[in-house]
Amino acid sequence: MSDCLFCKIINGDIPADTIYEDDEVLAFRDIAPQAPTHFLVIPKKHYNDLGEIDADDDRLIGKIVRTGAELAAKEGLDNGYRVIFNNGPDGCQIVFHVHMHILGGRKLRGPLG
Ligand code: AMP
Repeated sequence: MSDCLFCKIINGDIPADTIYEDDEVLAFRDIAPQAPTHFLVIPKKHYNDLGEIDADDDRLIGKIVRTGAELAAKEGLDNGYRVIFNNGPDGCQIVFHVHMHILGGRKLRGPLG
């Protein structure tokens, strides 16, 4: 989508600190990290939110989770990390292109909400 920030990152129109890329997914460091390690894993295909995901996307969403876990291991998050999909206005989603946050590198504060 032409007006989507993350599509612009995928297209190379906006720079990002990319840590992984293949033909389906992109992972890059969050511009405003909330933990010592904070990166996002996104599908290259545009979905506004999780409500647009259907059964055909099961493999892709699984790949996003697996990619995040593998990158977390590479980043040395051996003591754990948090995985978040903010979804919709009440979920505090700001960028309407599905994305998975991974945060770690310190003991994270809870509770979730
Ligand atoms: P969310 O509230 O889940 O929609 O979070 C969107 C995330 O995208 C926030 O953590 C932002 O800091 C992050 N973000 C926004 N713009 C950029 C950018 N240009 N590069 C990397 N991360 C970004």
